[in-house]
Amino acid sequence: MNNIKEFFYKFFYFYLNNPKFFFEIITLFTISILLKIYYPKFRGFMGEFWVRIELSKLPKSKYIVLNDIMIYYNNKTCQIDHIVVSNFGIFVIETKNYYGLIKGNKYDNKWYQYLGRTRNSFLNPIHQNYGHIRALSNLLKLDEKYFISIICFSNQAKLKVNCKDEITHLDFLKSEILKFKDINFNYDINELANIINYNNITDRKARRKHIIDIHTKIKNDNELLNNMICPKCGNQLVERNGKNGTFIGCSKFPKCKYTKNRL
Ligand SMILES: [Zn+2]
Repeated sequence: MNNIKEFFYKFFYFYLNNPKFFFEIITLFTISILLKIYYPKFRGFMGEFWVRIELSKLPKSKYIVLNDIMIYYNNKTCQIDHIVVSNFGIFVIETKNYYGLIKGNKYDNKWYQYLGRTRNSFLNPIHQNYGHIRALSNLLKLDEKYFISIICFSNQAKLKVNCKDEITHLDFLKSEILKFKDINFNYDINELANIINYNNITDRKARRKHIIDIHTKIKNDNELLNNMICPKCGNQLVERNGKNGTFIGCSKFPKCKYTKNRL
C-alpha cells in the first residue's frame, strides 16, 4: 500500500516539477478526444469536398453542378449530396466516404463495411439514392428515366458489390459521368437547375427548424394519444376488439382508418 502511495507522490511531484511536460500531455489528450468526436464528421466533410473538386472539372457549358441540396418531398426533407444537370441526363450522386471492405447486393436493405473484425451496417445507398431520384423527379415533373444514380465511394474503399454500373470510386467519377451520352433530352438545363436551386432549403435556420418540426410532431402525436385523441383527424380514439386482442382505433372509422396497438 505504501509503495503505491509513494508511486503516486513521485508521479505528482514529477509533474509539478515539469509543467511543460504536463501541459503537453494535456494537449495531446484533448486533441485525441476531439479527433475521436469529430473525425467521422471531418471525414464526411472531406469526402464531399473531394467530390466537389472532381465535379468542378466537368465542362461548365454542358454540366451544371449543384452541391448539398435539401428539398421537401412528401412533407419530409430529402438531402442530396450532389446533382449534375446535363442534356445527357440528371446525375444524382450519393457520397460514401467509407474505407475498408464494402459488401452488398443491389436488392438488400443493408450493406456492410468490414474493418478488420468489426462489421458496420448502413442503408443500401442504391435504395437511398432512389428516394432522392423520386423526390427530384416529382419536383422537376420529369420522368425517372432521365435520372442516373451514382454512388461514389472514396478511393480507399474495397468494393465487393454486384451492381457495378451504379457504383464508382472518386477517381472514376468524372469519366463515369462523361461516359453517358445516350439520353438526349431537350430541356433547358439552366431552367431545371434554377428550379432545384429555388426549392433548395438554404437557410440554416430553416434546415434546423425542419428537423425540430419532425421532433415536435412526434411529441405532439404522443400527447394526443395520451389524451385518446386521433392524431390523424382530431376525433376521439376508442378501444376496439380485434382478432389479435384489443387495439386503439379512431371513433370515426371507417372514415378515418387510424389504429394503434395498445400502449
Ligand atoms: Zn381519426
